[in-house]
Amino acid sequence: MLDLIIIGSGPAGLSAAIYGIRANLDVLVIEKDYEGTGQIALSSKVDNYLGLPGLDGYSMGEKFREHAVSFGVNFLEATVTEISQDEKDNHWIVKTASGEVKESKALIYATGAVHRHLGVPGEKTFDAKGVSYCATCDGAFYRGKTTAVVGGGDTALDDALYLSGLCEKVYLIHRRDAFRAAEITVNRVKEKENIELVLNSQVEEILGDERVNAVRLVGGRTLDINGIFIAAGSVPVTGVLDGVVELNPAGYIVADETGVTNKPGFFAAGDVRTKELRQVVTAVSDGANAATSAAHYIEKTFG
Ligand SMILES: Cc1cc2nc3c(=O)[nH]c(=O)nc-3n(C[C@H](O)[C@H](O)[C@H](O)COP(=O)(O)OP(=O)(O)OC[C@H]3O[C@@H](n4cnc5c(N)ncnc54)[C@H](O)[C@@H]3O)c2cc1C
Repeated sequence: MLDLIIIGSGPAGLSAAIYGIRANLDVLVIEKDYEGTGQIALSSKVDNYLGLPGLDGYSMGEKFREHAVSFGVNFLEATVTEISQDEKDNHWIVKTASGEVKESKALIYATGAVHRHLGVPGEKTFDAKGVSYCATCDGAFYRGKTTAVVGGGDTALDDALYLSGLCEKVYLIHRRDAFRAAEITVNRVKEKENIELVLNSQVEEILGDERVNAVRLVGGRTLDINGIFIAAGSVPVTGVLDGVVELNPAGYIVADETGVTNKPGFFAAGDVRTKELRQVVTAVSDGANAATSAAHYIEKTFG
């Protein structure tokens, strides 16, 4: 039996792995993506992580991963589909989509969060035909064209800024009249001449024939566009946790910064847990805390 299984190889999982190895634990990271580094790989530029200003998200993720690999962390590429706890000694049993079963004394759950859909007509029809959830992945296809970004948080404004460097024009559609993003980002957006703010507006339908060619807003205004980037928030990846551990009504694992949950030996780290600020710096910190909590738990419970 392993000491510690970590599910997810984003900043939280990789940080937990380094702390786990340094605490002399036998650690396995299970990750559903090939050599994954989590959501940060989607960011064009990360300016708010101490010591690494201006690095693109992909390179940052690679640095984190290289660090973990150099410390001897073991990885298994597999999607976790089932988690249960042994009734006798409380160890954890993890099953994957490919049928593997792994067992450990403690578990750190660090599966992050994924983008939210708008749920409007046309969104599904034109998925990957003009509808995108990742400006850094797909923005280059819209060089010199007109796009729209939907949302009012850091991701939406980050996407609009990134696209403004590629596209002729970018509409930023937000349902309120104020943004939730950092003030410095809001100011940068407002300074861009090719970003038009479309405030107090909601998308009613995404239109097109073969591909997206327009978006209709509630109230009837129609904007001619070649692509639309949806950045309407995220949902936690906790689908396999029903009945396993306490979740809040939005589906996040209820845990403070120690990572401790209502189940002994089950720790949560990163975007997947209840917290105010979902960022790399808090994910990395969570990973360190959760691994430390797990090491104490293993020592106390299994000796
Ligand atoms: C476009 C964008 C820009 C951003 N910009 C910034 C920024 O500038 N600064 C900043 O600090 N933060 C930024 N963030 C937020 C930051 O990326 C996240 O807060 C951080 O990545 C969270 O780390 P995490 O490890 O909790 O989760 P994630 O990074 O989401 O990693 C979770 C991992 O778990 C894996 N996983 C999920 N389910 C399973 C399963 N069933 N089995 C196995 N593995 C699974 C996933 O594949 C993934 O690798 C940005 C995010 C995005 C999307």
